[in-house]
Amino acid sequence: MPVTGSCSPPDQPRPSRPSRPAGWQSAAACAGLPPRIVFSKKPKEAAPALRACATCPVRRACEETVAPAENWFDGVCGGRLWRSGRPVPETRLHGGTRA
Ligand code: SF4
Repeated sequence: MPVTGSCSPPDQPRPSRPSRPAGWQSAAACAGLPPRIVFSKKPKEAAPALRACATCPVRRACEETVAPAENWFDGVCGGRLWRSGRPVPETRLHGGTRA
């Protein structure tokens, strides 16, 4: 996480602002969605993020960076909903068993 820098010496580069995502994150289709939606474990609540993934130009970068399986990720990443690093089956995303 970037450090806010009011104490940086003048010859040092200023740290980036934490409120502005850099690189691929600035192109994320889910960038304007609340974190409770993007990081939800519940299919119904995560639906807006999953819809955003369908048109997202940075899906590959998202999945490579988050590495959901390796990080036991919970939430939406790369077009899928993950719980504890495992993709939630499609049948549960479309009105199947409730979460
Ligand atoms: S792939 Fe989905 S979760 Fe990842 S940045 Fe794009 S819209 Fe967001």
